[in-house]
Amino acid sequence: MTAAALPAMFSLAGKRGLVLGIANEHSIATGCARAFAACGATLAATYLDEKARPHVAAVAEALPVAFLLPCDVHEPGALEAVFAEVALRWGRLDFLLHSIAFAPAADLHGRVVDSSPEGFALAMDISCHSFLRAARLAEPLMPQGGALLAVTYQGSGRVVPHYNLMGPVKAALESAVRYAAAELGPRGIRVNAISPGPIATRAAGGIEHFNEMLDTAAREAPEHRLATIEDCGALAAFLVGDAARMLTGTLIPVDGGQHLLA
Ligand code: NAD
Repeated sequence: MTAAALPAMFSLAGKRGLVLGIANEHSIATGCARAFAACGATLAATYLDEKARPHVAAVAEALPVAFLLPCDVHEPGALEAVFAEVALRWGRLDFLLHSIAFAPAADLHGRVVDSSPEGFALAMDISCHSFLRAARLAEPLMPQGGALLAVTYQGSGRVVPHYNLMGPVKAALESAVRYAAAELGPRGIRVNAISPGPIATRAAGGIEHFNEMLDTAAREAPEHRLATIEDCGALAAFLVGDAARMLTGTLIPVDGGQHLLA
């Protein structure tokens, strides 16, 4: 590789990406999608349900997005329908962002040891196993290789007050990223995760005392700065592009260094 080839490696021109997880203009998926589009990618995106549709459509219009599809990943056949449409319209996919998480409030707000089997299973299905299902569905659309990206949080590896049930769920997601990277590597498909510091989004609003997490992050991070969805987008655009061609199975914090502090 010559230095002259570098700018092209940082470009996403000619690449087609599917973005799962835009809820509104504040979503981490929105910051990522904006960065993908700015780097030249053509995008498709999904919305959870009819209630979410206008908010996602407003973001999608401005991006722009080539097509928008409904997808509740917990609904049997919903992810399959999305990938069937991608196959029909594009015949291939270059990258996928999974930026989805959910846990029932009753389970999220209690102790992890008190979580119900149903709540735990639902959180795992939507926030973790759906990533594996999406990876399996993306695989045949990536005959020349591709990149898959998940979004995690440091509450997976250390106990963060109030993160509760999402801690073990994110730990499972991170492990799923590593196994998927090993399994899909021979097909040229890279699998990575970004791990943002706390950002005020709709999902974050479901975590009790989330403002304390923001305050802690601002205090602990060496630069005393909170991560933004634009910071997430810059890292995500790098990871799905050719410049990151030797990176797979990695988890990269985008938290101003907060993870360094014990
Ligand atoms: P957000 O509310 O903007 O996005 C969460 C998305 O998950 C929404 O688009 C929602 O529609 C989607 N979703 C939930 N259940 C779904 C289902 N059954 N089917 C399909 N989609 C479903 O919040 P966000 O903070 O941008 O969350 C995106 C990701 O970032 C999540 O994985 C979250 O855990 C992770 N994350 C967030 C933070 C933070 O502080 N905000 C930090 C680290 C990681």
